[in-house]
Amino acid sequence: MRLINGRAIATALGGEIQTAATALRAAGAPPALAVVVPTRDEATAWYVRTITRTAAKVGIECQVHQLDEPTGAEVARRLDVLSADPAVHGIVCQTPLPSGVSLGEVGAHIDPAKDVDGANPLSLGRLTAGLAAFAPATAMAVLEILRREAIPFPGRRAVVIGRSIIVGKPVALLLLAANTTVTICHSHTVDLASISAAADILVVAIGRPHAIGIDHIRRGAVVIDVGTNPTPDGLTGDVDAGALADLDVALTPVPGGVGPVTTMLLLRNTVDAAGRQGS
Ligand code: NAP
Repeated sequence: MRLINGRAIATALGGEIQTAATALRAAGAPPALAVVVPTRDEATAWYVRTITRTAAKVGIECQVHQLDEPTGAEVARRLDVLSADPAVHGIVCQTPLPSGVSLGEVGAHIDPAKDVDGANPLSLGRLTAGLAAFAPATAMAVLEILRREAIPFPGRRAVVIGRSIIVGKPVALLLLAANTTVTICHSHTVDLASISAAADILVVAIGRPHAIGIDHIRRGAVVIDVGTNPTPDGLTGDVDAGALADLDVALTPVPGGVGPVTTMLLLRNTVDAAGRQGS
């Protein structure tokens, strides 16, 4: 097994983003990201600190809007205000959201031009229609890693396990746009192992620690493990990496695979959005 170094990819991306952010600042349009945090959840707070620290490193201003026990309407109102603010170029709304509120509902209040994490259902609709739009940063990270690994796409068999709006579906759309032949699997899929074991490119996003093992993976495959599952021993992925040690595969580790690339793509989307809004 060969591990794909997501941190190295993130470092390379960071240099590119810093150059773009410096040019924007020199042109009098410093890029700014707003992160709306409608929860005191500790894992969310950790992720927000990571975004803030990484943004500072690459020269992007990051505003954190902490809302305590807000209603869905209060979250939506804050997103409306930020969407109308010309000094804000990118907007992300963290989860978990107030009970009974979906990301699609509040995401619809993010201006699609500032929707750097693809939360507005319009963004996914535009992506489906083959129009320009921001995809969720995690989905973009999967494709970025495959591109940086020089994995050829056309004609390859890609299998995506998981069909969430934030990961599985947009990853499948991006892989389809890259001319792979895509199969999407989910919790009702019968004989998952025989389908996934046919994949040249396997993307796993199910949120079940170590659920995908040697029987699910073919020799020579590239496996992108999106899962981030907290366990008493730390974060772990959906793929049983230990079982693959002797197999000829390339795998993104957890942590250190998709996660750092996702954070950088949120920031790259912000400089891209700032560039378009300034022009
Ligand atoms: P989600 O909304 O819970 O969706 C999970 C998907 O997996 C569903 O489509 C579900 O099928 C499917 N599934 C569950 N168990 C399965 C099984 N045993 N076999 C086949 N399919 C199964 O989760 P998500 O938001 O997509 O996140 C997935 C994982 O990625 C989580 O661990 C999450 O923490 C992680 N994540 C990481 C990042 C990152 O930046 N690294 C970002 C986002 C998410 P049904 O549709 O039939 O229920």
